[in-house]
This record gives sequence, C-alpha cells and structure tokens, in this order.
Amino acid sequence: MAREIFTAEHEAFRDMVRSFISKEIAPHHEQWEKDGVVSREVWLAAGRQGLLGIDMPEEYGGGGDPDYRYYVVLNEELAKSGMHGPGFGVHNDINGGYLRQLCTPEQKARWLPGYCSGELITGIAMTEPAAGSDLQGIKTTATRDGDAYVLNGSKTFISNGILADLVIVVAKTDPSAGSKGVSLLMVERGMDGFERGRNLDKIGMHAQDTAELFFDNVRVPKENLLGEEGMGFIYLMQNLARERLSIGATAQAAAEAAFEQTLEYCKTREAFGRPIGRFQHNRFTLAEMKTELTVTRAFTDACIAKESRGELSVDEAAMLKYWNTELCKKVVDRCLQLHGGYGYMTEYPIAKAYQDVRVQTIFGGTTEIMKEIIGRGLGV
Ligand SMILES: Cc1cc2nc3c(=O)[nH]c(=O)nc-3n(C[C@H](O)[C@H](O)[C@H](O)COP(=O)(O)OP(=O)(O)OC[C@H]3O[C@@H](n4cnc5c(N)ncnc54)[C@H](O)[C@@H]3O)c2cc1C
Repeated sequence: MAREIFTAEHEAFRDMVRSFISKEIAPHHEQWEKDGVVSREVWLAAGRQGLLGIDMPEEYGGGGDPDYRYYVVLNEELAKSGMHGPGFGVHNDINGGYLRQLCTPEQKARWLPGYCSGELITGIAMTEPAAGSDLQGIKTTATRDGDAYVLNGSKTFISNGILADLVIVVAKTDPSAGSKGVSLLMVERGMDGFERGRNLDKIGMHAQDTAELFFDNVRVPKENLLGEEGMGFIYLMQNLARERLSIGATAQAAAEAAFEQTLEYCKTREAFGRPIGRFQHNRFTLAEMKTELTVTRAFTDACIAKESRGELSVDEAAMLKYWNTELCKKVVDRCLQLHGGYGYMTEYPIAKAYQDVRVQTIFGGTTEIMKEIIGRGLGV
C-alpha cells in the first residue's frame, strides 16, 4: 500500500539517504563492527550532506525544517540497510529535541554549529548501573558550588558513549526533592574528572559504541545547565515520547526489511522439490507476518503524522514502542527460522537482524514500562 504521509520531497530525500548509505556507510560498516565504533568521518560526511540537525535553525547550519518525517526517512533507510552503526538517531531525534527546546541563545551559538556539522557528537546519559527503568532512583548528584555544579556518579549503556563530545547528563541537584530535584547538565569532552569506561561488548549493533561514563568531582559551569534547575524530569517526560516513536518506527522498518528478504528466500530456496514458501505452514507464516506488518504500518504512520503535527501523546508513543518492537522481534525470529541453517550464519542479513533488533524492546524504556504507562493512562 502506498504511504500517504510522505510527499515528493520526502521521497527525494529518501533517495539521497540511500545513496549516502551506499557511499559513506556500506563500504566501512564491516570494519566498524570489528572496531566497535564508527569513524568520526562518517559524522562529518552526514553533516556535510545535511543529515544532522535537519530541524535546527539555518543560522547554526541546520536544515531549518521542523518536519519530523525527514528523520523518519533517515531512520527507516538505516534500519532497512541493516547498518546500525552511526548513532544519528540518538543525536537527531532524541538529543536534538532537548537542545532545540532548552538551549539559551548563548548555548545554541556554542553548540549547534558543531552539532549540525558532525564535529560535536552528542549522547544522553540517564541510565546508571543501579537505575534504568526506575529513573527516580538515580544516584548521580550535581551540587552547586559557586559558579559551577560539582558532578559525581556514573552512567552505563550510553549510546555514542565513546564518541560523544557533549553529553546531556541527568543528575540530582536536590536529592531531597524527588522528581522535582532532577536537572540536566551538559558535560563536555575534556572536563576534569569526566572519564569513559569500556566500550561495552553487546550481542548486536556491534558498530555502535555503548559505554560507561564516570564523573568524579567534575566542575560543570552553571552556563551548562540545560533549561531550568529541577525541571529535568519534566523535560525527560516531554522528550521520551519522540524517542519511543523513533524506536518504534525503526522497528517497523527493520521488520519489513526482514520480511521482504525472507519472502524472496522462500521463493528461491527449494526443499522436497519445491520452493519452501509453497509449504502451507510457511505460506501461512508469511501471510501472518504480512498481515501483522500491514496493520501495524497503519498505526505507525498515523503516529508519525501526529508527531509531525505535534499531537502525539505519551500513551500512543508507548503503545507504538511496545507493539512495534515486540512485533519486530517476533517477525525477525520467524524469518530466521525460515532461513534454516543459513539464518544462523552472520553473513546472512537475517542473522545480524536477529542480534541487532533484540535491544529494541529494552532501550528507550522496556516493554513492561510501556505497558505501565499505557495502563496508568487507563486509570488502573
Ligand atoms: C544498547 C543499549 C543502548 C542504550 N542507550 C542508552 C542511552 O543512550 N542512554 C541511556 O540513558 N540509557 C541507555 N540504555 C539503557 C536502557 O534505556 C535501559 O537498559 C532500560 O531502560 C532498562 O533499564 P535497566 O537495564 O536498568 O533494566 P531494569 O530497570 O533493571 O529492568 C530489568 C527488568 O525488570 C523489568 N522491570 C523494571 N521495572 C518494572 C516494573 N515497574 N514493572 C514490570 N517490570 C519492570 C524491566 O522491564 C526489565 O525486564 C541503553 C541500553 C542498551 C542495551
């Protein structure tokens, strides 16, 4: 079915993204998987191509177009390519929201040009070793001392953690005030006491760096406070909806790509004298997946359209993330089964997809937390 949410401009942008992926990402991705991290050059190339900060003001080098659908196209094409190395989604869809809404003019002038050019890679650090789903349980503190905050604590599982030059760190500025005592601080590469730990060894997404971060009496100038002190939790709640939509929309695209590859495989791989797709069980499996993906596509595109109009609710984003990531996991698993032994070989895209998509039901808030949000919205 033709998708009604995109215009000719979006499709032209899609063509450009595809050619960027084949030119700037595909030739290097295998090496990046071995390295556990992409090159800084691909970030600069993305900046030159206008793929970073599409929604940022033009005066800072951004695209000046707040239309969220361009980010959807970028994420979809990366998901379809199976090359998850560049953490553009974290930088664009997630961190961009905080920077666009909360930076003062002085902060914008300081950070946005590098953000848009790819020279300044960003990360966001919420999760700690002992607090992920339960964000209010974070232990990192930022104590005001003269003209700075003194930051102490540690974070883990941080995407872009090795490459990031600028990290939005969630910290307690008033530990006695519960959710009202949480603030966002911008921590910059090179600040004394800011150290990175290991590049964590994951079961998938091998080309994307995920790291621990440590803060030992880091003096963060008060000019690096993002938004207002004590408002951090509210900012997180406002921005997590888009993060979840991005993950959900990416999951849908990844699942569709896995399905298309598998359909082709089922038409060409033969057993007992016929293509394996001709066995009724397999045909039914394909039919079920096609139906589930088509139905889910309708809700996904409705949510994308709503977000483009600024109307997507927290509950809808949670439903989309829950449903799409769980569906993606199930679709990729069934597709792998249809590939037989070849599905277990990492040279086959489906094997990689199996490893890569597993995290989607976990990061950005787990499926269980999504159900909590949806359930609370029902008043139960
Ligand atoms: C590859 C990767 C990249 C990531 N990138 C980032 C990043 O850039 N920045 C960042 O801040 N974080 C990041 N994360 C962290 C991610 O958001 C957390 O892992 C996630 O929120 C879950 O937190 P946790 O790991 O502490 O699990 P826990 O919160 O300990 O949960 C463990 C299990 O208990 C369940 N559970 C917890 N609470 C409840 C409840 N109330 N009801 C029912 N079940 C519950 C969970 O659903 C889960 O199944 C990343 C994680 C990964 C794996």
